[in-house]
Amino acid sequence: MRAIDIHLHPGITPDPPGIKELAETYRRNDVVGLPIAWDEETRTGRQPLANDFIARMIKEYPDVFISGWACVDPWKGQAAVREAERAVKELGLLGLKSQQAAQQFFPNDRRFYPLWEKCVELGCPVMFHMGTTGYGVGQPGGGGIRLKYTRPIPYLDDVAADFPQLTIVGAHPAWPWQDEMLAIVIHKSNVFMDLSGWSPKYFPEALKREVNGRLQDRALFGSDHPFIPLERWLADFQKEGYKPEVIEKVLYKNAQTILGLEV
Ligand SMILES: [Zn+2]
Repeated sequence: MRAIDIHLHPGITPDPPGIKELAETYRRNDVVGLPIAWDEETRTGRQPLANDFIARMIKEYPDVFISGWACVDPWKGQAAVREAERAVKELGLLGLKSQQAAQQFFPNDRRFYPLWEKCVELGCPVMFHMGTTGYGVGQPGGGGIRLKYTRPIPYLDDVAADFPQLTIVGAHPAWPWQDEMLAIVIHKSNVFMDLSGWSPKYFPEALKREVNGRLQDRALFGSDHPFIPLERWLADFQKEGYKPEVIEKVLYKNAQTILGLEV
């Protein structure tokens, strides 16, 4: 095992094709991965990529997909809380992933606190999408997607402060609010970040410096495959001059420590 990719998308529609090929791509690269479910039904009416689908991927390809992220639509209220519990307890998924731009909510909105309370109770991590998204990009009005929901301060920072026992992973370098994300990770020991969604070639200097320095135990490898293909992310990361021990931490050691993944 060369790396643990904590952020990959098998698709966002129900029953996406090509799972066998996806598994083969990861196997070929000696990388294990955590696929992510998807539920934005309230906003779009689209059937979710179900948590059961992710659980099935893990069951069918246990050597490649070692765990996965559940997704629930927070607007479903108590049903969302129950589904989060079922996904972790019964399906065995690792934790919860939110895409607030697609799901149209602020993480610090008190109406959704029962979800984070449930995650504390379950002892499971939550991943929040941070910064701009490829979803709706280049369309008039961004396809109706609002970026405000993905800003780190105050929306994520509030949750991190209110739930000190909750392990939080901010997904992506959080551009154009990268410094806010770095500030939270430095300030709050229960917050971590994944480096997915951008080629490491384009990481700003401040991010590279922190990953090589004081955040070397806090940053996790995620690709956002297929949006940033796995192979491209890995190849670009190797060329950026990170210290060898930092590369090992980012690629898998931090995921083992922070998320308790045993591989
Ligand atoms: Zn993603």
